[in-house]
Amino acid sequence: MRILFAASEVVPFAKTGGLADVAGALPKALQALGHDVRLIMPRYRAVDAKQFGLKKILDRHAVSVGAHTRVCAVLEGRIPKTPIPVYFVDQPQLFDRDGLYQDQGADFPDNLERFSVFSQAVLSAIPKLGWQPQVVHTHDWQTSLVCAHLGWPLSSDRFWQSVGTVLTVHNLAYQGVFPPESWPLTNLPKALFSIEGLEFYGKINGLKGGLMSADLLTTVSPTYAKEIQTPEVGCGLEGVLASRREALVGILNGIDPEEWNPKTDAALAAHYWPGEVAGKAICKLALQKQQKLPDHHVLVIGMIQRLAEQKGIDIFTQAIDALMALPIQIVILGTGDPAYHDKLQALAARFSEKLSVNLRFDNALAHQIEAGADAFLMPSRFEPCGLNQMYSMRFGTVPIVRRVGGLADTVVDVSPQTLQHGTATGFVFEDYSAQALLEAVKRAVAAFRDHELWGALVRAGMQQDFSWDRSARDYVAVYERSISRRAARRSPPPADGSRRGGHAHSSAVAAS
Ligand code: ADP
Repeated sequence: MRILFAASEVVPFAKTGGLADVAGALPKALQALGHDVRLIMPRYRAVDAKQFGLKKILDRHAVSVGAHTRVCAVLEGRIPKTPIPVYFVDQPQLFDRDGLYQDQGADFPDNLERFSVFSQAVLSAIPKLGWQPQVVHTHDWQTSLVCAHLGWPLSSDRFWQSVGTVLTVHNLAYQGVFPPESWPLTNLPKALFSIEGLEFYGKINGLKGGLMSADLLTTVSPTYAKEIQTPEVGCGLEGVLASRREALVGILNGIDPEEWNPKTDAALAAHYWPGEVAGKAICKLALQKQQKLPDHHVLVIGMIQRLAEQKGIDIFTQAIDALMALPIQIVILGTGDPAYHDKLQALAARFSEKLSVNLRFDNALAHQIEAGADAFLMPSRFEPCGLNQMYSMRFGTVPIVRRVGGLADTVVDVSPQTLQHGTATGFVFEDYSAQALLEAVKRAVAAFRDHELWGALVRAGMQQDFSWDRSARDYVAVYERSISRRAARRSPPPADGSRRGGHAHSSAVAAS
């Protein structure tokens, strides 16, 4: 199958979060299954032409959005160590910036124009490259406009009409909401500023446009697929999602087993693998030294995250006094909300013997924390999939998580039964509260004293299979269905006037 990924970030070229990991790893798994996968993304400042061996394949490609015409180029590279082509839309006024979506914590004011130009460039440049996809796989609000154009104005375009569209929601909290005056920047007919289209409470909602128009929708874990149909987690779009529940599938993210492998990881002080974990103790000592923490034999807990409300920093800071009274050390790596930066910096100064805080994006340190920590804390308010808990298990680091979204789907709580069955992999708590978080950490501290029990948890985690292979097969099934839906949409109604199962909401792919 020929599959085009349109994504706003892709590892190793540009990354702010899990979307980039998925867009970098899933194509490799699809290619291993024999599919012809290609990607297209914006060329940000970080995408260095020399470093990635990029070649210009399209010059002076004009894209008109609203009142402006932007001239783009398209460069071609490869996902490193693979033959997978990646096309980069080069439009320096819009993308030659350090941030992907923000500058110093504030969204760029021209984000709608930026991702509308990118989406238009996808739709107008791909037909010029001598290759026709059968499916376009888009991701989050930034590329939702691709689905909106293919679902509506371009639905009978000769090049695109039979191409299935799939939209993956990586995080429903980011919807691309813009004032109604910006409508001309979408390049969509005004009639689509409506309840059936992109209008949402009087504003433009980019993600809603994708949710309403894509042939199929996926999200990144089965539990999150259910949760987003509820008011608690649906971020206002629960009704839209419930109305498309038959088109919505939850597929758990995998992890890149080469990028996250303690046996080969170049960032680590020592290597280890299932059955031979001695190197993990060396990584722990190296982490304590690097973080200027005393080399005590206590439970070292890692946290790596965007510092956003979603990630549970508020209940963590509420619990901090009680946490710091326990025999533990905590290493935090994160960037995000400046208010959390200030709070964490103040806490690090107060508890310098037990808490170290690194306020930056640092991939090597992320690997060192995953390897050097004994446990990994994710007290998320909501978590579509979460990758770090899976990286942690692969690195023999025991996750402590809240039972929500993908965390609920991947971590099995320690209990007498799960221990007996050998399925326990971590500590799971229910309530979104400082107290529940604290109790879970206390359970981990107690288990850490029991060498045999802790060893069993480490081993069970390292044996989990979170590879992309299974999920990639699930995506292929979704792609196939999207193509048949698209074909059914286009076929004429039967002579008796009744519809033939081609309506966008009709086929049986359910997230219930
Ligand atoms: P989200 O996509 O909500 O940010 P995920 O757990 O799905 O959360 O993915 C986060 C990814 O970003 C992980 O690979 C994590 O290691 C990485 N990450 C987050 N913050 C940092 C940071 N400050 N430095 C390095 N890596 C980070």
